[in-house]
Amino acid sequence: MIRFEGVSKAFGATPALDGLDLTVPEAAFAVLLGGSGAGKSTALRTINRLVEPDAGRVLLRERDVASEPAPALRRRIGYVIQGIGLFPHWTVARNIGAVPRLLGWPAARIAARVDELLALLRLDPDAYRDRLPAQLSGGQAQRVGVARALAADPDILLMDEPFGALDAVTRQALQQEMARLHAATGKTILLVTHDVEEAFALATRIAVMADGRLLQEGPPRELLDAP
Ligand code: ADP
Ligand code: ADP
Repeated sequence: MIRFEGVSKAFGATPALDGLDLTVPEAAFAVLLGGSGAGKSTALRTINRLVEPDAGRVLLRERDVASEPAPALRRRIGYVIQGIGLFPHWTVARNIGAVPRLLGWPAARIAARVDELLALLRLDPDAYRDRLPAQLSGGQAQRVGVARALAADPDILLMDEPFGALDAVTRQALQQEMARLHAATGKTILLVTHDVEEAFALATRIAVMADGRLLQEGPPRELLDAP
């Protein structure tokens, strides 16, 4: 689904990625795990070309991401970051429908998709579709962020520390939602975290990174058994 081949990136003198090789299989819930500065976010951002590698390449479904204009690519890639990231003056429905609108979906299809996604993320459509982001709790806003990322049925969902700003109870609820959503949709998910418990709670595959390189990769059970 995704393959990093010898991907390197430096910011000035600081190497962020140093020859990263990693394959994420279709339908995996893959977690990039590592300490701060390991290069996880940079790796994620090479997929949607927020970061352009200095060397190596990134393949999405066997196609080099650099071969496609970034805006078109990003419409096929859901992206959820920490914090809100919703347009504050747009309603929940307009935020969720942003990419479908860009793609020219008819209004009725967008409205139906918005309600379907709100229900999938366990937000009552009648209660939430016309709210503004300021009228949402942190956990509700993150649910809307996930719904927005899924709106146009992307090939893959990228999540960068998506629950880092939430309290522990809300974080656990959202983790359970993501596990359920992955099981229900079979969507390939790549999530970045420094939280070992979160990684083991969610991942079907864990890739451990340090110093811009892959240390270990495999199903959680194999990593636990590793010396
Ligand atoms: P992680 O997500 O694992 O915490 P990052 O990918 O954010 O790691 O960062 C890896 C290294 O690259 C760090 O040393 C970080 O400071 C540096 N870095 C990341 N993005 C930038 C940037 N836009 N400008 C300068 N340095 C950056
Ligand atoms: P930084 O912290 O370096 O400013 P962020 O990770 O916070 O960058 O955000 C990167 C920007 O890309 C955000 O403005 C985000 O809203 C935007 N963005 C939104 N959707 C996508 C997407 N599908 N692919 C790439 N970038 C996106």
